[in-house]
Amino acid sequence: MLNDVNKTGGMVEYSYGAYNKFDENEQYIRITEGCPNNCPYCYEPTEIKVFEIPEIVRNDVKIMDMNILCKGEALSIINHLGSQKVNNRVVYYQLICGVDWRFLTQDLADALHKNRRNRRCKGSFKDVKRRTEAFC
Ligand code: SF4
Repeated sequence: MLNDVNKTGGMVEYSYGAYNKFDENEQYIRITEGCPNNCPYCYEPTEIKVFEIPEIVRNDVKIMDMNILCKGEALSIINHLGSQKVNNRVVYYQLICGVDWRFLTQDLADALHKNRRNRRCKGSFKDVKRRTEAFC
C-alpha cells in the first residue's frame, strides 16, 4: 500500500484519486482526498475532492482517506457506509489514517459509533467514539 505514491512534476502526493481494491478478506477504499491543514511534513494535497462511494464487498473495510472528517460530506459518507451489509452481515470499518479531532463533532462521533466499529482496532469507528467520550 505504501508504494502507492504518485510522482508528478517532482511532487510526491499521498492521495491521488479514488481507490477500491480487495482480496478474499478485506477491502481498501478511498472516497475523498485532500486536507486543509497543509502540515509541512505531509504529502496530502490541500485541494479537497470527493469521489463516488464504491460498492462495499467485504465485511472488513479499511478507509484510506486522509482527514475524512474535514469534508462536508463526512456525515453522509459515514451513514451510507454504516447502512451496507455483505452476505447479510454488518461491515466493520477502520480509519487507517487516523482522525483529526479538531473536525470531530458530536454528530460525527455518534455516527461513527452507530455505523460500525471494528472492536479490535485503534482508529475503528467505535474507538473514535470511545476516545471522544474520554475527552468530554
Ligand atoms: S492534518 Fe494530517 S492529513 Fe492533514 S496535512 Fe496534517 S498530517 Fe496531512
